[in-house]
Amino acid sequence: MARVYNFGAGPAMLPEVVLQQAQEELLDWQGSGMSIVEISHRSKKFMALVDETTNLLRELLAIPNQYKIIFLAAPCRSQFAMIPLNCIGNKTQADYLDTGLWSHQAIKEAKRYTNVNIVSSSENNGYTTIAKPETWKCDPTSAYLYYCANETVNGLALHEIPDAGTIPLACDMTSCFLAQPVDITRFGIVFAGAQKNIAPAGMTIVIVREDLIGHANAITPTTDNYQVNAAENSLYYTPNSFSIYMANLNFKWLQREGGLSAMQQCNQTKAKLLYEYIDNSGFYHNPVDPNYRSIMNVPFTLADQSLDESFLAEASRAGLAELKGHRTVGGMRASLYNAMPKAGVEALITFMQKFAKAHT
Ligand SMILES: *Cc1c(COP(=O)(O)O)cnc(C)c1O
Repeated sequence: MARVYNFGAGPAMLPEVVLQQAQEELLDWQGSGMSIVEISHRSKKFMALVDETTNLLRELLAIPNQYKIIFLAAPCRSQFAMIPLNCIGNKTQADYLDTGLWSHQAIKEAKRYTNVNIVSSSENNGYTTIAKPETWKCDPTSAYLYYCANETVNGLALHEIPDAGTIPLACDMTSCFLAQPVDITRFGIVFAGAQKNIAPAGMTIVIVREDLIGHANAITPTTDNYQVNAAENSLYYTPNSFSIYMANLNFKWLQREGGLSAMQQCNQTKAKLLYEYIDNSGFYHNPVDPNYRSIMNVPFTLADQSLDESFLAEASRAGLAELKGHRTVGGMRASLYNAMPKAGVEALITFMQKFAKAHT
């Protein structure tokens, strides 16, 4: 059976060598005579794996020591509640930037716990551009400013880190995490769900500055308290051991490939190829303002929507899988995470050219 190019937004493609290593080690992990999914999370070997994985991530992103790295066995969107529940403290409001489906969901959830000040919203332009930061209505009395760096569904990305002034910046980096170097010191909290660019689903990584830990309010569940999870080194409850292990293998792969600068170069090349083709095709269309286009998730529509089904069916037969766009946006979406080789993007473009020719 041949492996396909998987353009799915998440769960997403992982490097083949990472999957192969996991396969080879599945029955006997590091001479333990046990699988990684069977071994105790309190064993020395496993605790060493958590430490090593933490250190690998610290190196890849140059994360300073005053930031804690927490591996949660939780969905990414658990942070939509956990951030207000851990960080509102004695404040009564938080600032949010509304740039697409995921930040919109985060706002909805945060409203259950705090007042929300929307500093700027792209809802009126269909989430295709973002207003200049000078026009945002930030409030220095807010507990933090929250935004999503890469809107996975809308293909809209904020390439510059916003200036939050004196308040901490909280960022959902799920779908662009480890796709390029990032200055972590600009943030109070960064989080990412594993299933986009890290590991299998079922784990969320939180990078949180020490001074933001320890302000949970009385109703914050213990499992959702940053302080508890940080103090227990992500082992307060039974973690998602398989995801931590896969993240470990993936981080080592990233290192071997030359780290995040090398990833960035490769990711920019892939995205440029696809956007240039779409823009010049006269058949496909991407609606996003070029200044805010995602390099990870590329939504596009066909000239004739009635061709969508045959596009997907023929693409699938050509070994190009999971190209269907999100139900709220329609059309297609190609996700180009780290594990997608340039050859996959070239194969997609070749297919798109043939398909356009056959239908014009
Ligand atoms: C996928 C995604 C989520 C939601 O992930 P779940 O694990 O399903 O909760 C949140 N934010 C962004 C940016 C995403 O890409």
